[in-house]
Order: sequence, then C-alpha cells, then structure tokens
Amino acid sequence: PATINKIAAGEVIERPASIVKELVENAIDAGASTITVDIRDGGISYLRVTDNGAGIAADQVEIAFLRHSTSKIERAEDLQTISSLGFRGEALASIAAVARVEILTRRAEDMTGVRYVIEGGRPQILEEIACPAGTTLRVENLFFNTPARKKFLKKPAAEAAYITDFCQKMALGHPEISFKYMRGGGTPILHTPGNNQLKNCVFAVFGKEMLSQLLSLEETGEISIDGYISKPELTRANRSYENYFLNGRYIKSQVIEKALEEAYKDYVVPGTYPVTILHIRMDPQVLDVNVHPTKMEVRFSAEEQVREAVFEAVSRKLRESNL
Ligand code: ADP
Ligand code: MG
Repeated sequence: PATINKIAAGEVIERPASIVKELVENAIDAGASTITVDIRDGGISYLRVTDNGAGIAADQVEIAFLRHSTSKIERAEDLQTISSLGFRGEALASIAAVARVEILTRRAEDMTGVRYVIEGGRPQILEEIACPAGTTLRVENLFFNTPARKKFLKKPAAEAAYITDFCQKMALGHPEISFKYMRGGGTPILHTPGNNQLKNCVFAVFGKEMLSQLLSLEETGEISIDGYISKPELTRANRSYENYFLNGRYIKSQVIEKALEEAYKDYVVPGTYPVTILHIRMDPQVLDVNVHPTKMEVRFSAEEQVREAVFEAVSRKLRESNL
C-alpha cells in the first residue's frame, strides 16, 4: 500500500501549500476556533498545523491515515465540502506517503491523547501521551522519498509565498476563526482575532492604510453580499486583489470576475482591477456546485443570479460613493 499511496499522492500533493490547505480544511471541519500554521523553509523541511477542534478518538488515529478513510459524508452539492472532491479521505494518507508525519491529538472528553508517527507511509510510533485537546499535525522532509517531485519545488521563499497567500485567504474567508501564521515560530506574520469581524481580518491581511481606503458594502437578500471594495482610484494592475468567498469558501469564478469588472467599467482605466473582499452567501441547497478537483474555479447553477447580485451591489456602492 505504501507504493500505491506514493503514486496517488503525486497527483494531489504538489507542494507544501497543498498540504497546509488540506490540514487547515481538516481543522475547520473539526470545528476549530483557533488554527495555527507554522512553517520553516517554505514548509519543505517543516510545517505544522495546530487546531483546537474535536480531535480524533485513539482507536481512529491509524485509520484516519488509510486511503479512502473519511469520517465525512460525501455531499458534492454542499459547497463546504468541495475542497475534498476527488480527494476524499485521501489527504492524510497522501501526505504521510511522501513525508514524515507526526500527529498529536486528543478529544476534549478523553484523559489522554495519542501520538502517531508515520513516515513514507510506514507507521513508526503509536503511543498514548498527554496533549492539549485538539490536533497538531507536523509534516517534515516533504518528498524525501520522491526526489523527482522534490526537484519540482520552488525556492523556500516562493513556496512560503504560496502558503502566505493561502493563509490570508483563509483568514479573510473565516472571520469566525482565529488564524495565526508564522515562519519558524516567533511573532506571527498574520494573526486574526476570530471575533467574526471581517474588518479585523482585512486589517490583519492588508493593513490599516488599505482598510481606510475601502468602501464597505452590505446587501441582504436571497443572495447576501457583504465585505469591502476599493474606491476606483485604488485599483490594481492585476486581478490578484479580487477576493470573493462563496459561503465562506474562497473561489475563482469568471462569472463573478466579469460582474465585478463590469461594475467598475465606467470608473477605472481599462486593464486595472478592483480590490475586493466580498462574502457572497446563499442557500447551499440551490448551489449545485461543479468544481475541478485541483482547481478553485467553480461553476454553479445560480451563476446568473449571483452575477446580477454582485453587479447590482457593487454598482450601487460605487454610484453612492461617487455622489
Ligand atoms: P477527509 O478530510 O476527506 O475526511 P483526510 O485524509 O483529510 O480525509 O482526513 C481523514 C480523517 O481524519 C477525517 O475524516 C477526520 O475524521 C480525521 N481528521 C483529520 N484531520 C483532523 C483534525 N484536524 N481534527 C479532527 N479530525 C481530523
Ligand atoms: Mg481532509
């Protein structure tokens, strides 16, 4: 099985940021209210994700690292679960196949926790230990047994940049969770309070200066939209500042992109793009999401309504602020 896992892992574990993504999403699924990410060398030699979520029962720890083992129901239509599409119950197995992984986990209701070490798919240590409630995953020596894949990694600084980008998006997407992100321990480079105030997250990610130049927006309805958009004079030379979240999940969507840019069209120089941090919320039942397993580009049935809602909300705000 170690070999099979190693092959399969190649498809999904591309880089340290893919691991951080899987582990952070597991922490969110476990109901964590605080999540800490710590990396060294861009996550290549070391990365750690700690959460205060539900933890894993002692007799389930080894099982969680077996391929296709998931405690989660498969509901493709629920946007909250799309990240795992094509990757269900495979993240831990895939990661452990190509690195040294150590997990410390305890459920709040258990007296003791478990420490499990698995390296290149081979279990090394399983022991009872004392640890805080929640889960810590440490991943070391990524791709130590797949040198060809290791060669494809970029320099640590570039790998770290992917992780920073991901952590910023998670922080903006989940104001209800306190995120802490650091490199080599020490002072966090990102720290959000987890008090459900998007404003605090925008402040933590983009800084005070940027926050003071954004317009806040709030629309309620069947499709609710709230967040921040830039004044037209604050637009950027590329789309990388267009952040939008569908039911808390960071997505890419050409439909939403178009709606945003259409709304800004009369205000900005062509080829410049707004800064947006928008939360779009709607009934997940009607979403019917379609997503490529390794991409964030999302297609969904209510695209036309969402396009209209975003266009209307943003246009109105820009008009108001221009009076
Ligand atoms: P999936 O998330 O698709 O279920 P994973 O391989 O990512 O598959 O995780 C396997 C299982 O391990 C999960 O279903 C969950 O039961 C458990 N698990 C993983 N990470 C955590 C965590 N941080 N807290 C609690 N349980 C976890
Ligand atoms: Mg998972």
